[in-house]
Amino acid sequence: MNEALIKEIQDKHINLVAVTKKHTKEEVDQLHALGLSVFGENRVQEFLTKYDPAYTWHIIGHLQTNKVKYIIGKVDVIESLDSIKLAKEIEKQAKKQDLVQKVFVELKVSQTDENKTGYPYQDAMNFLAELQQFPHIKVKGLMCIATHTDDQAVNIKEFDTMKQIFDEAKEKYPEIETLSMGMSHDWRLALEHGSTQVRIGTALFTD
Ligand SMILES: *Cc1c(COP(=O)(O)O)cnc(C)c1O
Repeated sequence: MNEALIKEIQDKHINLVAVTKKHTKEEVDQLHALGLSVFGENRVQEFLTKYDPAYTWHIIGHLQTNKVKYIIGKVDVIESLDSIKLAKEIEKQAKKQDLVQKVFVELKVSQTDENKTGYPYQDAMNFLAELQQFPHIKVKGLMCIATHTDDQAVNIKEFDTMKQIFDEAKEKYPEIETLSMGMSHDWRLALEHGSTQVRIGTALFTD
């Protein structure tokens, strides 16, 4: 565990999702003992093996519609809503359980083929408007995966694009409060450019 990094994040009161994919439940418990309480998993099957109702969980990876039924009622936030098809299934399953599912809309701002996930950012406002028809879904934020690059200018452009959409979205839908961006290699830059929540995996586990 990188306790120095964890302490830095805690001292700065940064909202952190500790990404625990490929790590054991014991490691999740260790992070919890160090004061972390929100955990992110990107695969449903792996999430279910670690799920502990005492902790807060976010699903952050691309979500298949046929997996939605396994996570409703267990995850606090689905960060990766990126299609109407997926929204329809979340609506259906949340309604069944008589709850309102919190989601973030994942936007695609990266130009590389590596990260294909996310709704096209150019149409974000239309997508948000469409999502208003689902009474059992509440959009609480926006999320992106920035390009993995050492070229900071590329990331700055992506983060600034997200921030601009976030400000516009917040104005229209005041319940939108989180801008989820920044991972191990770019979280400091993301915070400088408007992120309100970072998702860090690798760096937490490497000294
Ligand atoms: C794995 C993952 C992270 C964390 O990435 P690291 O580089 O390990 O910090 C953040 N967000 C998503 C969507 C991920 O899949």
